[in-house]
Amino acid sequence: MDTKTILNFGSGPAKLPKPVLIQAQKELLDYNGLGISILEMSHRTSDFNQIINSAESLLRELLSIPANYKVLFMQGGGTGQFSAVALNLIGLKEDRCADYIVTGTWSAGAAKEAEKHGKVNVVHPKMDRYTGIPDSSSWSLNPSASYVYFCCNETVHGIEFNFIPDTKDVILVSDMSSNFLSRPVDVSKFGLIFAGAQKNVGCAGVTIVIVREDLLGKALKECPTILDYNVQAKNNSLHNTPPTYSIYIVKLVLEWIKNNGGTDAMNKLSKQKSSMIYDIINNSNGFYSCPIDVSCRSRMNIPFRIGNMEGDEALEREFLEGASKLGMISLKGHRSVGGVRASLYNAVTVEETQALATYMKEFLHKH
Ligand code: PLP
Repeated sequence: MDTKTILNFGSGPAKLPKPVLIQAQKELLDYNGLGISILEMSHRTSDFNQIINSAESLLRELLSIPANYKVLFMQGGGTGQFSAVALNLIGLKEDRCADYIVTGTWSAGAAKEAEKHGKVNVVHPKMDRYTGIPDSSSWSLNPSASYVYFCCNETVHGIEFNFIPDTKDVILVSDMSSNFLSRPVDVSKFGLIFAGAQKNVGCAGVTIVIVREDLLGKALKECPTILDYNVQAKNNSLHNTPPTYSIYIVKLVLEWIKNNGGTDAMNKLSKQKSSMIYDIINNSNGFYSCPIDVSCRSRMNIPFRIGNMEGDEALEREFLEGASKLGMISLKGHRSVGGVRASLYNAVTVEETQALATYMKEFLHKH
């Protein structure tokens, strides 16, 4: 029986590359001739060790991670890291304070969580709406902050940093959950990077943390062992049972990224795909509108309204229903902002993006 072709523009858990799913299916019942599934395999076996070690070395290769950084595979999602970052790093300096650049829902959530463990300074005036990145010349960074935190791509609003904030000597922490491995990153500029896997690098259940070694071992005493980076680093992320299957899927996705040209190729494709959609928005005479400043529009998540700047709900409903009939799913904007959102992570192909672009043009002509 033919399955209907589905074009998944969801924001996460998101589309996985087809070859990854095919390989996972092939290996599901019997991994590597062992007669058992990875789902049934102890995390203490040499076979699982090979999986986690090759996931780590692929990641090191893809991002040229310097030797003085640890790679951890953790649980608790991005939200778990909001706590883990503060619990591990806010005590780096006596004042126990941290600077947060708040450009959307996720960085706001991280700042709120950090407030439980120390003083949080939002470095710019509070924004009524998240539509851009406040000009860095207006930031008041605190030189005695333990770290400066930012979310590299705000998934809900579609705001992406295309520069690395200059924090002088204060260490920089970034949530890259929704643009991880979509472009090269100079890891040496960061104290810590984390990313939930379920958007660009795998399925839900595992969060990747890349952390500079000298920042380990400084966790607050109330930090739960499971969130302590030092404990995880010393145990090769195997302090307790890790999300074994999710780590295996990450390994497959990293292989796929490597075989498809690495982060440079992903970057090129991301620019190409996002331009296809933004070009239509920009040339639609206001029929489609994206509220985000042009300089920080996300290549990963493109939110837009239809009909007028506030969005004509009837038109948006018609758009989403029409898309769904064509097999294009998960285009509804986040419930907090409404409208439409197209997520174009690494696994979304140029052809799929083209299909969406064509539909957008047809919808525009119809109205
Ligand atoms: N950070 C970003 C940028 C996200 O997009 C999300 C979820 O979508 C999170 C953090 C929270 O991740 P989780 O749901 O894995 O806790």
